[in-house]
Amino acid sequence: MSDMSAQVRRALDVAVEAIGGKPREGQIEMAEAVANALTDRHHLMVQAGTGTGKSLAYLIPGIVHGRKVLVATATLALQRQLVDRDLPAVVPALEKELGREISYAIYKGVGNYVCLQKMNSEDIDPDTELVMEVSSLEKDAKRLIAWAKTPGVSGDRDDAPEVDRRVWAANSTSGRECVGADVCAFGSQCFAANAKAKAQTADIVVTNHTLLAIEIVDSHPILPERDCVILDEAHEFMDRATQAVTDELTSNRVLRAAAMARKFMPGKLSDAFHKAANDFHESMVDYGEDVKTDPTSQGRLEEIPQSLEFSIRKVMESSKAIVQFLSADDEIIDTDALAERARVKGAVNEIATTASTLLKMGDGLVLWYEPTFSTLYPVSYTHLTLPTIYSV
Ligand code: SF4
Repeated sequence: MSDMSAQVRRALDVAVEAIGGKPREGQIEMAEAVANALTDRHHLMVQAGTGTGKSLAYLIPGIVHGRKVLVATATLALQRQLVDRDLPAVVPALEKELGREISYAIYKGVGNYVCLQKMNSEDIDPDTELVMEVSSLEKDAKRLIAWAKTPGVSGDRDDAPEVDRRVWAANSTSGRECVGADVCAFGSQCFAANAKAKAQTADIVVTNHTLLAIEIVDSHPILPERDCVILDEAHEFMDRATQAVTDELTSNRVLRAAAMARKFMPGKLSDAFHKAANDFHESMVDYGEDVKTDPTSQGRLEEIPQSLEFSIRKVMESSKAIVQFLSADDEIIDTDALAERARVKGAVNEIATTASTLLKMGDGLVLWYEPTFSTLYPVSYTHLTLPTIYSV
């Protein structure tokens, strides 16, 4: 047995004892296989049944090796379980055994944290407007704001008081709409940016499949640097990856983006987009009615229905014009306005991109119409290329 294997074995014993468990044959075998993969730098795929104790079998070799480890779980709940239960239970005993500090952090997408810029913005966006209209939501909004102002809170949705999802939407932002902490007026206090900074230096970072999939597909580094990736519940990854990278076009999303654009930059361009959004909404309502009598018009479609093509094209053209205008406009220096512009541009760009993908159906892309929420999806058959992954 190599020195490293012996160390992993000892550390696993210590960790198992710390949680009051007993040594398990399968767990030891798996931990040794992971340790060997880390030493030799080769890929590893492990299939192990329930009760093996897989989390410790991959965490312990990662910790003993002292490498920067990224663990991606299938769900936010599993992510939470590792950071709130498994790691706190074993890390103190392992620190004693290894004679060094071990740090870990959770890393989620921007939309899982309160966005202080949006919460403090005086410009009312369509999400906030809705919350103000529905007075029963006001209490939720006040609770969330009071919590976000409490010193030391994480801003993480899982730690926040439970609020209606519309209140959350009004006080959070998507990665595409975030202006970036460097230019945001709230950048230094930003919950998402602080969580990311903490994750940059942690030995173990726990994230989820969705973020990893977005990073792979967008070829854009959003996750902290790491030496190895451990994909927990790897059999779920393709589904999660597909969900994460599947765009969708609904009337609500288009109308929301149009309302945001109109507030931010009233004028001809926004009026055109607003009209295109309303026309698209009407054509989707009509199409939804047709589907009721013709079931072949739903699910996978060979081509874009003629009744929708014109309005999608108008949505694409008018939204692209706004994105172009906003990209060329360098006049803004006020940080609040910059953040607002990033939000509007992100939301409108998302629509422009999806609409133009829909209009390019053909090689490698099919169209899917989902009637329950009246949604159009361009579904890609492009295969994902995975980075170097140590998979268990
Ligand atoms: S950087 Fe600014 S806009 Fe982005 S999430 Fe943080 S507070 Fe919101």
